[in-house]
Amino acid sequence: MSTYRGPRCRSCNGPCWQWKGSVWGYTCAACIAKHQHAAAARADARDRKARKQNASKLFGNNDSPAVSKVASGR
Ligand SMILES: [Zn+2]
Repeated sequence: MSTYRGPRCRSCNGPCWQWKGSVWGYTCAACIAKHQHAAAARADARDRKARKQNASKLFGNNDSPAVSKVASGR
């Protein structure tokens, strides 16, 4: 495939003839999809972590019997 002289994907170095804008530049659709999946997974993990923190904060403020039992059980 040495006949291809156009721009190449900056991620996988494959042919990418279309400029995808200032954010992606020359990135092929497959790599953009990969990046977006990775970003979505990161956001998902961040959401889960935030939810966990909120939940522990909630339990910390709320003197529920279950928490007191666990705290005094050791
Ligand atoms: Zn690519």
